Amino acid sequence: MIIVLKPRTSQQEADEILSKIEKMGLKPLYMPGVERTVIGALGDERMLGRLHLESHPAVERVDPILAPYKAVSREMHPEDSTIQVGNLTIGGKGFGVIAGPCAVESYEQLSATAKAVKAAGAHGLRGGAFKPRTSPYSFQGLGLEGLKILQQVGAETGLPVITEVVEVADVEAVQEHADAFQVGARNMQNFRLLTALGQAGKPVFLKRGMAATVKDVLMSAEYIVSEGNRDVVFVERGIRTFEGGTRNTLDLSAVCQFKKLSHLPVVVDPSHGTGVREYVAPMAYAAAASGADGILVEVHCNPKEALSDGAQSLFPEQFTELMQRIAPFAEAAGRRL
Ligand code: PEP
Ligand code: MN
Repeated sequence: MIIVLKPRTSQQEADEILSKIEKMGLKPLYMPGVERTVIGALGDERMLGRLHLESHPAVERVDPILAPYKAVSREMHPEDSTIQVGNLTIGGKGFGVIAGPCAVESYEQLSATAKAVKAAGAHGLRGGAFKPRTSPYSFQGLGLEGLKILQQVGAETGLPVITEVVEVADVEAVQEHADAFQVGARNMQNFRLLTALGQAGKPVFLKRGMAATVKDVLMSAEYIVSEGNRDVVFVERGIRTFEGGTRNTLDLSAVCQFKKLSHLPVVVDPSHGTGVREYVAPMAYAAAASGADGILVEVHCNPKEALSDGAQSLFPEQFTELMQRIAPFAEAAGRRL
């Protein structure tokens, strides 16, 4: 339910409505705007009827939200949201580039890669400390030690760091060492994890599951936002199809769907979206042209020796070239790098 307040409504009146919603066992979402203040009420909408908010003097109108995802829907928040990740703003007029290795392997590896991506113009650093691998025999990540390396290298380069969290028990440690959480494709519908992240205090990059529809992703984001954490960024990273020439099929039309249905930003991961190094840059350019708010790219200082995803990791020189060539594509979609 969306409660649109009349212009010049006082804070006291808004607070009164917020507490009425809360007393009914619903979750209020306060969204002050330049023109109008809007209040969302999340939960069982039958309860709202009992509040008779239509007759409150500060209320202009009460609209139902028809979509099953409420807090993340455009209906609730018609303007684009921007999300702050350390010193990087995702959304709005900018185009954010987050780059780094699939996994944190050592201080030397992360530091060399981070320096290279920073010199090329990246705005954020990625790297997994907890790696959810398809095979139990593959490198599983350095865990807490990896988080500490990430934090150190992030501080040394001035790049905000984004890293995956795979279970509820690690949320606190990841929050302490990183600027944003990543939820991987394999965990997109781990609802316990999503709920815990909704109660956490850092932004969440929510990757699309490999067999998830855009609406499934929106519902997963709703789990996070309805708990109070409004800072969610969607990540299109490809889905499973019958096509065998690429690791996944990058669905760039999902960017249009996310933009239409939700106010939250969306970034594209052309690395997992293709799985093939030489396809990464063209798909990054296409992502920029499609209106995405940024990209998440795997770069490794020495891809031939990478412990995970070497085949899709760019050499630093390739990433530098990508950064030199991507600006016109972002500009074509009204963004500045
Ligand atoms: C990753 O970002 O390294 C990763 C494991 O991605 P995904 O969850 O999209 O497979
Ligand atoms: Mn990877």
